[in-house]
Amino acid sequence: AEVIRQVDPEISEIICEEARRQERQIELIASENFVSPAVLAAMGSVLTNKYAEGYPDKRYYGGCEVVDKAEKLAIERAKELFGCDHVNVQPHSGSQANMGVYFSVLEPGDTILAMNLSHGGHLTHGSPVNFSGKLYNVIPYGVDKETETIDFDEVRRLAKEHNPKMIVCGASAYPREIDAEKFREIADEVGAYLMFDIAHIAGLIAAGYHKDPVPFCDFVTTTTHKTLRGPRGGMIMCKAEHAKKIDSAIFPGMQGGPLMHVIASKAVSFAEALKPDFKDYQRRVVENASILAKELKKRDFHLVSGGTDNHLLLLNLTSKGVTGKAAQLALDEAGITVNKNTVPFETLSPFVTSGVRVGTPAVTTRGFGPDEMVKIADWIDRVISDVENPSNLEAVRAEVLDLCGSKPLYPGLCK
Ligand code: PLP
Repeated sequence: AEVIRQVDPEISEIICEEARRQERQIELIASENFVSPAVLAAMGSVLTNKYAEGYPDKRYYGGCEVVDKAEKLAIERAKELFGCDHVNVQPHSGSQANMGVYFSVLEPGDTILAMNLSHGGHLTHGSPVNFSGKLYNVIPYGVDKETETIDFDEVRRLAKEHNPKMIVCGASAYPREIDAEKFREIADEVGAYLMFDIAHIAGLIAAGYHKDPVPFCDFVTTTTHKTLRGPRGGMIMCKAEHAKKIDSAIFPGMQGGPLMHVIASKAVSFAEALKPDFKDYQRRVVENASILAKELKKRDFHLVSGGTDNHLLLLNLTSKGVTGKAAQLALDEAGITVNKNTVPFETLSPFVTSGVRVGTPAVTTRGFGPDEMVKIADWIDRVISDVENPSNLEAVRAEVLDLCGSKPLYPGLCK
């Protein structure tokens, strides 16, 4: 921060302000995490200076012999973590990883079967406002109204009726384990490719807490910055037979020079994920989510699907008489950061919503455990029970600040 301050005091102050914001609030956004100082440092390294269009040993620029080593390490480590034939670590984001898969084997107008956004799917799984919804004929599947878990009868029925070229599974707001084997069965029945977007649960899979979907899928995509706790970015894994198509879809198909500093940082985060304490971290992520779920249920919150098998919970606040938007704002005031989220069979607009999504990856990295989960459930309950009362929110805020003060984040980053 000091080096930046000498050149650009405004940005330096913004970085420190954001560091303070992160330290003084409880981060419950399910897709966020706090990377290690090593991951952070690799992103700020001289590797950002290098152009390296192409792939290791097949570049379009000179001087790539050093960055080649970084990309090869990232690839080897990803293969070790997920047990896949082929990896492309160049996608700049999760969205570009998904685009890379679509561009590799689909033509505009092809049919894909993917999870409805309001039931937990991602924008890139066929939302009409996204390239995926504009380019492809998207058939959405969802969850069962009673169980609020994926309705495999519906998936099978829609697959047989529409004959998709690809079935997409994986989600942004689905609290249960997703059964890749069942999706494979359906994909085989209709001769479709299967893509699993594991962005949210990649860390859980790498640590063995969710079954590895790689053997059942043609393509597995992920972000690297959520439970996997790496830099912001994407990655594609696939069977050997698709390797060439995937690589050329990313470069030269849709990206230019890879972000070598980010790829090196991905490699650092994969090295961290291969260490035994990463397994313990993921165990605590899941344990914290399940304690939070139990405590919120005790306080009469409606959890979509009745609970969680992973790092996130989806709260339907309809019975509490509060919208997702109002809850997010009030929790923010109290120092607890969540995002409003649509719930299955949503009746409100995406700007308002009936729910909030809550996740434990970041608080677990911060060192919070079962005791803190009980406190957080109590604070959420107190905020939601009286969202418009400033003194209620202030009282919770004071307790939140107290806890945050006891768990510093990035000590020494800003004076
Ligand atoms: N896929 C899923 C399931 C996600 O939840 C997300 C991000 O939230 C993405 C893809 C897209 O990732 P990015 O924001 O890096 O484009």
